[in-house]
Amino acid sequence: MIYELVPTELHDEFKAFHHDLEKIASQHVEACPFCKKTAFYLIRSKPTKTYRCKDCHKYFTVSTNTPFNRLMPFNWLELIFTSRIKNISYLNIAEKLESSLEKVIRRDRAIIHYLQIHYPSLHKWYTHQKQTTLMPTLAEQHQTIKAKVTALLNEQSPTCIHCGSNETTKVGSRTCYRCRRCRHSFNILSNTSLNRIPKPELWLQFIDLLVSGANNLQIRKALNLHNDTVRKWRSAWYHMMKDWHCEALAIWCKNK
Ligand SMILES: [Zn+2]
Ligand SMILES: [Zn+2]
Repeated sequence: MIYELVPTELHDEFKAFHHDLEKIASQHVEACPFCKKTAFYLIRSKPTKTYRCKDCHKYFTVSTNTPFNRLMPFNWLELIFTSRIKNISYLNIAEKLESSLEKVIRRDRAIIHYLQIHYPSLHKWYTHQKQTTLMPTLAEQHQTIKAKVTALLNEQSPTCIHCGSNETTKVGSRTCYRCRRCRHSFNILSNTSLNRIPKPELWLQFIDLLVSGANNLQIRKALNLHNDTVRKWRSAWYHMMKDWHCEALAIWCKNK
């Protein structure tokens, strides 16, 4: 039973949040989220019950003005919440829902955001216990990425992308090489998101900052980069991590 997994002193907040999720799943609305008046009428039922306030004339759904806005289907929220309490991984939840990892994580973030606003004690407990299962995966993927980047930067004679020869030598400090057999030059990253991302000497530091949860401003200051550069790098690494099958880490590092 799920209650046994939640500390007794949090049962009141847990019950109240559970009730909120039920209301959202059943799309039950009590008042206009804008003016708080209770006179409104149904505009349409599908795909989501949409209402219009008789007083302020605004349109709304059960999730308007909440972190769950547009996160249909709403009955997933409770399943994600209770699964996380049971320490079921995001990946397993995504499989169960036949959905993507990203959709599950986005909903869990909305749950955390909602708890933060309405149920601070439950929020503290939920985010703390969540990290204990999330962190090993992230730490593992962090090591994978660092190992791959280190290998890339230390590559001595990669296979030539033109003729397949291994008689290649590094040109300059970047990831560019020249083939001694066909005499073509090539960049081993030319078909990846890292193409045209300069300053490889900063990449490992940049990744560490991303994983630590630093925001763009903090990274900009730490590495003395431009704001646009940090944004571009974050996006490039997001795609690179995904390509390297470190999806959880990619999502973790996406936006801060
Ligand atoms: Zn209203
Ligand atoms: Zn060649």
